[in-house]
Amino acid sequence: MNTTIHLVYLACAVSFVIGLHWMNAPATARRGNQISAAGMALAILTTVVVLVRDHTVTLGAAVALVIGSAAGGLAGLLTARRVQMTAMPQLVSLFNAVGGGAAALIALGDRTASVFGVLDVAIGGVTFTGSLVAAGKLAGRIPGRPITVPFGRWLSAALTALAAALGVWFVADGGNQWLLGGVTLAALAGGLLLSLPIGGADMPVVISLLNAFTGTAVAMAGFVLDSTPLIIAGGLVGAAGAILTKLMADAMNRPISAIMAGGYGTGDAVAVATGSGSAAVREITADDAAIQLAYASKVVIVPGYGLAAAQAQHEAVALAEALTERGVEVTYAIHPVAGRMPGHMNVLLAEANAPYQQLKDLEESNPEFARTDVALIIGANDVTNPAARRPGNPVSGMPILDVDKARSVIVLKRSLGHGYAGIDNELYSDPKTAMLFADAKAGLGALLSGLHAYAD
Ligand code: NDP
Repeated sequence: MNTTIHLVYLACAVSFVIGLHWMNAPATARRGNQISAAGMALAILTTVVVLVRDHTVTLGAAVALVIGSAAGGLAGLLTARRVQMTAMPQLVSLFNAVGGGAAALIALGDRTASVFGVLDVAIGGVTFTGSLVAAGKLAGRIPGRPITVPFGRWLSAALTALAAALGVWFVADGGNQWLLGGVTLAALAGGLLLSLPIGGADMPVVISLLNAFTGTAVAMAGFVLDSTPLIIAGGLVGAAGAILTKLMADAMNRPISAIMAGGYGTGDAVAVATGSGSAAVREITADDAAIQLAYASKVVIVPGYGLAAAQAQHEAVALAEALTERGVEVTYAIHPVAGRMPGHMNVLLAEANAPYQQLKDLEESNPEFARTDVALIIGANDVTNPAARRPGNPVSGMPILDVDKARSVIVLKRSLGHGYAGIDNELYSDPKTAMLFADAKAGLGALLSGLHAYAD
């Protein structure tokens, strides 16, 4: 029986790895998700069998387990089904918080004094409050600008030292729960100090980091419970999150340590009325923009958060298709931090069935702008801001999409309002830029109508 159980757990682990691998490419991502979910369902079922076989749960605990998993499962299912695509980033952050918190609770409920238990509580605690703050910032309930706590860095260092000292004492002392309680409080405060000072454009890095922390906390919980599938699943999430963090930090062109130290970005989007920006901008009508697009040989579409906010992905793909039918070469330039969560634009465009071969990342897209007739920016802002090339502002050093190298630029957004980093975009006053002020969905609809009316 034991061998069978280990073999089943091994099969679950293999399905997680295959699933992750399939998630590498949009064409197989859905299948990857399904096989990983099936592996997790099998792991849970097998654990239930083990619990029943070993008589490790009392009747009361069994009832609590059944009610708890039914309520948790239902809540997760309903929120995931009902969530708007625009609220997805904060939901993912909330799920991170729940994952980290649950992992920490496992160690708090454990009676043995182990290093793994201390690490579980410490990492899980930081993840819990850090992710709650991140979710609050993404949902706009907490200001997105850096919120600095006086002597924050010293406080973080002191809390880390305190947690480490209490953790060592806890293990040496053989399990005094008060000491573990102290580690928990230090970790919860540490999570607040980690996320609060993160500003605007640096949020993607901290979100990926918290994702890595969740996985690591779960892996530690696996050691506490001596559960192989939990160790493997947590390890995979931790490793994937760590790689994503590195990619995101590279995308922002910043060392992770600098972001953790805080103080970048200002975050709060302040809408500025049309035409009231610091420099004059040139406006274009939807019909003129449609004609310009129709007679271009190469168009690069740059999607951003506004496309997600307007839920205009289907219209964007319809426009791209209409242009392609006319013989225009169309690609999408995807910036790694466009939108509000890693991979946000890829998810949106995949939902609207944009052909994968048309999706180009930053490195592939930038050399293409020099031979592009029109760069059509839809609801993107920070990822195109040339201010990033200069020091001294919240987006400094972040690689941007070089849309200003295209022959002409059309920006579709509602106003001269700021993006997440909260600063003006000098691209809008560039003489080759024309602003099409509209909601992305309505604007794309008008472009499509214009294309059919004037260019057919
Ligand atoms: P931005 O946040 O820079 O800009 C989005 C723009 O969309 C706004 O300027 C807004 O302008 C416009 N907009 C909003 N609603 C609509 C609408 N309905 N129709 C048309 N336009 C609309 O987006 P980017 O994608 O360029 O950049 C992402 C930013 O978010 C970066 O600073 C990134 O660091 C940050 N971030 C990214 C995360 C990630 O993981 N990807 C996570 C957290 C933050 P207007 O109001 O004038 O319409």
